[in-house]
Amino acid sequence: MCGIVAYIGSQKAYPIILKGLKRLEYRGYDSSGIALYGEQIETFKRKGRVAELEVWDEKMIETATVGIGHTRWATHGEPSDANAHPHTSNNGQLTLVHNGIIENYASLKQELIQKGYVFKSETDTKVLVNFIEEIQKNNDYSLEEAMRVALKRVVGAYVIIVMENGFPDRLIAARKGSPLVIGVGEGEHFLASDTQ
Ligand code: GLU
Repeated sequence: MCGIVAYIGSQKAYPIILKGLKRLEYRGYDSSGIALYGEQIETFKRKGRVAELEVWDEKMIETATVGIGHTRWATHGEPSDANAHPHTSNNGQLTLVHNGIIENYASLKQELIQKGYVFKSETDTKVLVNFIEEIQKNNDYSLEEAMRVALKRVVGAYVIIVMENGFPDRLIAARKGSPLVIGVGEGEHFLASDTQ
């Protein structure tokens, strides 16, 4: 299980997240990635070291004040760019980072495939983000409601943080059996899966 760092506030998110991910490198990992909310959510992820993320588009780096970052230690699917986090749902609306394991991902994946979902990544995480999307779409739920309903059906230990297009001033996090630390500042929040 690897690392998550997220920021929402008025400072530039990218340097805060990048620095946080570097501090989590000691835990070991095989790939890393960041999603920032610019005009919409943009994701940059790579197999390999966090330093690979230092070449991102300058405008995003300079302007975004909301973002999520991840270092991955693969449990489902090989280390690759496609399997690295963050993962985006099929309709492009939700982007999520995840630490941990979704134990019942195979049965949830079959349900989604029957509903027409196509998977370009082998991770349990891709199943989770699409499962939340499906529940949200079908019930016209807010993201928070969809996450509550979806996570009742999820078996496993996890921390997740989710961003949604159209909601630039919001991150929603959930955890079960894995730690998540939230730093509350004035007009800003820091989230991490480790106190380091
Ligand atoms: N199970 C997820 C994956 O394989 C997350 C692994 C992690 O905690 O880094 O992508």
